[in-house]
Amino acid sequence: MFSSNFSQKAIQEFQNRYQKKPRVFRSPGRINLIGEHIDYNNGWVMPAGIDKEVTFCISKNETDTFRIFSLNQQEEVSFTLSTYNSIPSGWAKYVIGVIDELIKVGKKIPAFDATIDGNVPFGSGLSSSAALECATAFAINEYFELNLSRKEIALISQAAENNFVGVNCGIMDQFASVFSKENQVIRLDCDTLEYEYFPCELGEYTLILANTLVKHSLGDSEYNTRRRECETALEVLSDAKGVEKSFRNLTIEDLNTYSSLINETQAKRLSFVLGEINRVQLASKALKNKDFHELGKLLYESHEGLQHLYEVSCEELDFMVNFSKGFEGLLGSRMMGGGFGGCTINLIERKSSQSFQKELTGAYFKQFGIEPEFYQVNIGEGSSEVIL
Ligand code: ADP
Ligand code: MG
Repeated sequence: MFSSNFSQKAIQEFQNRYQKKPRVFRSPGRINLIGEHIDYNNGWVMPAGIDKEVTFCISKNETDTFRIFSLNQQEEVSFTLSTYNSIPSGWAKYVIGVIDELIKVGKKIPAFDATIDGNVPFGSGLSSSAALECATAFAINEYFELNLSRKEIALISQAAENNFVGVNCGIMDQFASVFSKENQVIRLDCDTLEYEYFPCELGEYTLILANTLVKHSLGDSEYNTRRRECETALEVLSDAKGVEKSFRNLTIEDLNTYSSLINETQAKRLSFVLGEINRVQLASKALKNKDFHELGKLLYESHEGLQHLYEVSCEELDFMVNFSKGFEGLLGSRMMGGGFGGCTINLIERKSSQSFQKELTGAYFKQFGIEPEFYQVNIGEGSSEVIL
């Protein structure tokens, strides 16, 4: 049996509010060990679910009105299948988006009552949104016996975020939330959705996320620009080489051969993407060999690329990674997620973890006047039912 941090409070709230016993489901947030900005470039990524999750309590109510209460937001929304489109934007969109996608694929969803509680910090790059969507989709699928596969649940959750919430995310977050296994990372091919598990038992090491607590507004527009830059440059190089348009058909050498066909910026972006895809493969080997020093080195190299070639880092993230380089017992560090703020992920000796947090807090506060937050994460199990 794996350890879950499901919310007893959500169950209590459900019983008080709706006067019956629910069935209880959960789905985790995620980290991405390496393979950053690679999901939408259709390469390999290496995510894992974590021991922070969203709990979803559900019971049908024999009416036509859905009632959903969020403990985090302290708000209940109620709607029917003919009114849900007019629910104002906000947290409920992540839930309703899933219902909407299920209806689109022809599923009948009877009205239900639900309470939701999560301990994945919002907007910190741990994908609380995917945890919420996947908890919702997994719960509805199991409860109403819709017979969807895990892959379909991940895809429906992603579609909910794309179409109903309006965020153009790749599949990585939802895939990780649904498919994660304790102490394993997933090497996911974002093109074919083929995947393989790699052991991630870190022994005397642990993973700590350090949150810069900044979010530079540049992020959204730069994300779209990167997507365009990569797409265009990939097309030009694939055409020149006469191969199907995919990064797996290109090598770093091709960049030199065809450098005159793309501009300097595009060459930098591609150089990062090809390097990062290669690092994911090297990281799989390092994990198999339990070579954590090699893994740490790859994390630092990934950050170098994100900072100088892909140019999605920022002063605060770079400060944290530089600080880590001088810290004894710390093997590797890099920005994690979209960039321009958010968290760094750090591979560090367990015994040095407290002093790292203390010293980085002091240094970061001195530099930026902000006290960073830290999350120590363990790799946890994907979507499941909580058997009470
Ligand atoms: P991230 O996915 O990086 O945490 P997002 O902005 O994509 O950040 O998603 C965060 C949003 O997801 C929250 O602002 C909230 O609307 C919604 N959300 C996530 N978890 C919950 C929850 N447990 N209850 C209600 N809303 C949630
Ligand atoms: Mg999100």
